[in-house]
Amino acid sequence: MSLDLNTENSQRTDGASARNCDVLILGAGAAGLASAEKLAQKGLNVLILEARNRTGGRIFTMRDPTSSLPIELGAEFIHGSPKETFAVVGAAGLSVYDILDSHQYYDGKHWTEEEFWDEVNDVFDKLEPDREEDRSFDEFLNDHKNQFSPKALELAKAFAEGFHAARSEDLSEKGLAISEQASENVDISQTFRIFDGYDAVITRFIRSLPHPEDTILLNRTAKLVQYDRGGVRVNARNELTGGTEAFHAQRLIITLPIGVLKAPATAHASLRIHPEPEEYRTALQSLEMGVAIRIVFRFREAFWETLSDEPIGYLHLGPEADFPTWWTALPVRTPQITAWVGGTGAEKMKTLSKEERIQKALSQLAKMTHRDPKWVESQLLTVYHHDWHNDPFSLGSYSYVLKGGADTARFFERSIENRIYFAGEATMMTAERGTVDGAITSGHRAAGEVLKNFDSYR
Ligand SMILES: Cc1cc2nc3c(=O)[nH]c(=O)nc-3n(C[C@H](O)[C@H](O)[C@H](O)COP(=O)(O)OP(=O)(O)OC[C@H]3O[C@@H](n4cnc5c(N)ncnc54)[C@H](O)[C@@H]3O)c2cc1C
Repeated sequence: MSLDLNTENSQRTDGASARNCDVLILGAGAAGLASAEKLAQKGLNVLILEARNRTGGRIFTMRDPTSSLPIELGAEFIHGSPKETFAVVGAAGLSVYDILDSHQYYDGKHWTEEEFWDEVNDVFDKLEPDREEDRSFDEFLNDHKNQFSPKALELAKAFAEGFHAARSEDLSEKGLAISEQASENVDISQTFRIFDGYDAVITRFIRSLPHPEDTILLNRTAKLVQYDRGGVRVNARNELTGGTEAFHAQRLIITLPIGVLKAPATAHASLRIHPEPEEYRTALQSLEMGVAIRIVFRFREAFWETLSDEPIGYLHLGPEADFPTWWTALPVRTPQITAWVGGTGAEKMKTLSKEERIQKALSQLAKMTHRDPKWVESQLLTVYHHDWHNDPFSLGSYSYVLKGGADTARFFERSIENRIYFAGEATMMTAERGTVDGAITSGHRAAGEVLKNFDSYR
């Protein structure tokens, strides 16, 4: 074993005590499992270290005893018909259904069915992917303030903040433009849900592994990565015993969320790479982990249905609302409604307790449905909320590119000396950034790169 392990954090164990494999993968979310599937299919000996006591990462499906409809705390929608995700859906024989794409808007008093996508699309069409000097999305809007109505600009800002979970004052125009350009290749006119829940995708990946119980090690938090010509070594904390365990591999794929990779050394799940590649820190600084807050409510009855003669898919409020976006479970008829806020609005609520967030959403729901808050609470059966921002294994919801970062973020598409590869939604410079499809595609990309170079190192 030829690794230089003389760093203050390294817990040196000899080669014999480190568990060996061909490829080590950090993280058992969609990206990690997608790459494991591909590598295992080619006969490589793969090990996955997962810090949580469950697989799936930001796919987190719950079952409510009072409902046959799965509850999603993380990813819920398949946007468009992305190839990689639908390949898994097809292989697993899963059923998907179209969501009801009907929108209602609240002006503080009345609900209308006014359509705004055309206006927002006109604004987004002006984004410039090839700009020499990057601007923030706010600066972009300001520079176009004479071309569009104040309402179109406000709606575009609210959409960018909500959908991308991003602060528009920091969001890169160039990054957004590149991803919008790429999304033209994907038909995003339809949005789907998976009938059995998003975790069915995770189950499919796990079942494809020859020996899942020996391949996925839960409760292992990777803390230190070291590499040289002899291979890659990872020290991980065993969350159950508190002890350090060592692993050795020919190749490593890192799929940790960008929030975790950016975290200071004192953070519970922080990871150090030694020696640290020069551009690594700059690349991390070009991305941000966005904040989004979602709360799912189940009531005795769907009392919001009286707001419109038409079936309600989405309810939109102005950006000043605590939760500007709500959606129902339609076309499935069940008394369930979801509150959503992303970007600046969500950041303001980062420090609130779960109960405080729920209270804010409930009082807003009462106001917008013209009901007494006490009556609304009396109708409530269950509430589901996961605090992704304060979860040490995600430290946020999903990534976006910061102003000026569109080129440096491409670091994560490359390998470190053909030894260490990155995957995960944050490593995609396309419209799939921030999505499950992005995670799967990046996992397949990293596995493909590993396979290309593997034989020369064996
Ligand atoms: C509220 C919310 C709503 C969303 N809605 C949608 C949606 O509707 N549609 C969509 O496509 N996407 C959605 N997303 C995004 C989607 O969930 C993610 O893009 C995708 O699941 C990311 O997969 P990943 O494999 O890249 O990362 P993750 O799923 O985060 O996997 C990384 C894994 O690494 C583990 N880990 C962390 N630190 C360590 C460590 N030090 N050592 C070992 N393991 C570690 C984590 O526990 C995790 O399991 C949503 C996300 C959130 C939070």
